[in-house]
Amino acid sequence: MMPDPLPFPQEYRYYRYSHYIKQKFGQKVYRIGIDAGFTCPVRDGHIGTEGCLYCDNTSFAANQRKDILSIHDQITQTLRSNKFTRKKDTRIFFAYFQSYTNTYAPVKDLEKLYREALDFPEIAGLIIGTRPDCLPGPVLDLLQDIAQDYFVSLELGIESVYDKTLKWVNRGHDFATAEKAINRAVAKNINVSGHYILGFPTETRLEMLDSTKIINQLPLTGIKIHNLHIVKHTPLAKIYAEKPFTLFTEEEWIPFICDYLELLRSDLVIERLVGDALRDTLVAPLFPTQKTLILEYIRRELEKRNSYQGGKNENRYI
Ligand code: SF4
Repeated sequence: MMPDPLPFPQEYRYYRYSHYIKQKFGQKVYRIGIDAGFTCPVRDGHIGTEGCLYCDNTSFAANQRKDILSIHDQITQTLRSNKFTRKKDTRIFFAYFQSYTNTYAPVKDLEKLYREALDFPEIAGLIIGTRPDCLPGPVLDLLQDIAQDYFVSLELGIESVYDKTLKWVNRGHDFATAEKAINRAVAKNINVSGHYILGFPTETRLEMLDSTKIINQLPLTGIKIHNLHIVKHTPLAKIYAEKPFTLFTEEEWIPFICDYLELLRSDLVIERLVGDALRDTLVAPLFPTQKTLILEYIRRELEKRNSYQGGKNENRYI
């Protein structure tokens, strides 16, 4: 029997982001991806120039980095696009500052960019992708101020709780930096979701599962999980070509991610459960071919186990 109450319907088996948004806003809220022209400190020479081993920003989204339009023009264009005019289930959206490190600029410039997005009556909030070492006090103060009137969520790159991995992937920060940034942001009433990658060759699968003990202790609202992908034209693709290492297959990922979900706390919103880089950018692994199908297989696997997110977490809801 599943404990009651869980923060999600029993048949879902895990706390879907779409459900959380419906609970909060009473309707769907789509994200409008924005490229505000940022760079990041492991690319611009501040910490390094090579970037994280796995990073190719063109793989972040279908909209590859082109001539960057103003925030106003990007949002206008998206709202007028066929994809969005067809959406009849909502007219509210989040501005999703997605590419590179979206807090990596002087605070007055950030305020101008964020407010330009918030000037649209359709924009209900900001989702801001960033690194833990790019959140100085004045930026958190700005976000705290905005969060008084809008939904604000940081999508923070944790990537691993193991410093040996962070070092290997050239992140340029350690886990303690992530932990500190999360605590400081949450203390200012800003939602934080962790971006997390499973499958680094520097970690055993047991270590990956054990990372839930640390993740569960962080005051995160949500988590966005990816299986490690090797993307073309990245330093990792070169390493993999010279010395291939084991990656999750689709058959392995489904039971593994179910094990992982069982260990996570039940109130952690699950924003993603599998990577979704564009297929023609990928070297390996070449799944999922159909993301919705994988999510259904994960749900079915949990159902088969008569289990759910948090089912094996010692501090689960009871
Ligand atoms: S993953 Fe993020 S922090 Fe790393 S190089 Fe890419 S944009 Fe920079």
